[in-house]
Amino acid sequence: PFAREYGGTLSNRSFGGAQVSRTFYARGQTGQQLLLGAYQALERQIGLGAVKMFPRTEMLDVVVINGHARGIVIRDLLTGLFNRRYLDETLPRELSRCQRRGEPLVVAMLDLDRFKRFNDAYGHEAGDIVLQMIGLSLRQSLRSGDIACRYGGEELTVVMSGVSLDDAKIRLDKLRQTIRQLHIRYRECELPAITVSIGVAIAESEKIDATALLNRADAALYQAKQSGRNCVVMHKVNMLTTPGE
Ligand code: GH3
Ligand code: MG
Ligand code: MG
Repeated sequence: PFAREYGGTLSNRSFGGAQVSRTFYARGQTGQQLLLGAYQALERQIGLGAVKMFPRTEMLDVVVINGHARGIVIRDLLTGLFNRRYLDETLPRELSRCQRRGEPLVVAMLDLDRFKRFNDAYGHEAGDIVLQMIGLSLRQSLRSGDIACRYGGEELTVVMSGVSLDDAKIRLDKLRQTIRQLHIRYRECELPAITVSIGVAIAESEKIDATALLNRADAALYQAKQSGRNCVVMHKVNMLTTPGE
């Protein structure tokens, strides 16, 4: 639904509350050109410094609503992974697409182990670097059909479509090992190894919605923590759920 020219207003909300409310104008023959043009126009007006770390069109989605192009931030600035908003919009869509085609969809919740203790010992800045490096590992391990997001804080979500449960387990366990083996330097020192716990759920033939699927992955994550952390646990029926569920 791209037209060749757009003028639009970027709302404050689009930039996480930053003081931004500008109109812009973009022109292009294709959706891609329009996206780039709209982004460049926004960038000139707002001067988003940090955004330049990432490829432009990956950072901002320009969505056309009632003839207005609106910039929506879809990446987390610290890790470069997609953000929660993107997951909330994409997961239900991906899930129904897989269900229509009779394909499985795997959702994994990752949580850094004892990260509060790590921050207390080495500082928040060192913790941020760890999150950045783990974000990078995740992005490097992705295949087409995968989506990796920062769900919030030190929790990350990976969505895999077109993959069997066995393959997903193997890949996630490799990712777990890769993270544990990262050598991360901070102020001339090497930081100690960080581990992650991973909970996995799969939607196969049954009707399940995105929220229930995430809850299952979360319950499996809770079990992974209970079993001593630094491991991958699959959701099972009758699995103890997290408190409050
Ligand atoms: P568990 O193994 O049970 O997950 O223990 P935990 O300490 O990781 O869990 P808890 O939920 O108690 O603490 C999460 C910590 O993650 C607290 C917070 O300081 C840290 N954290 C969350 N977001 C960030 C961030 O953006 N940067 C840094 N440096 N730390 C963060
Ligand atoms: Mg947590
Ligand atoms: Mg944690």
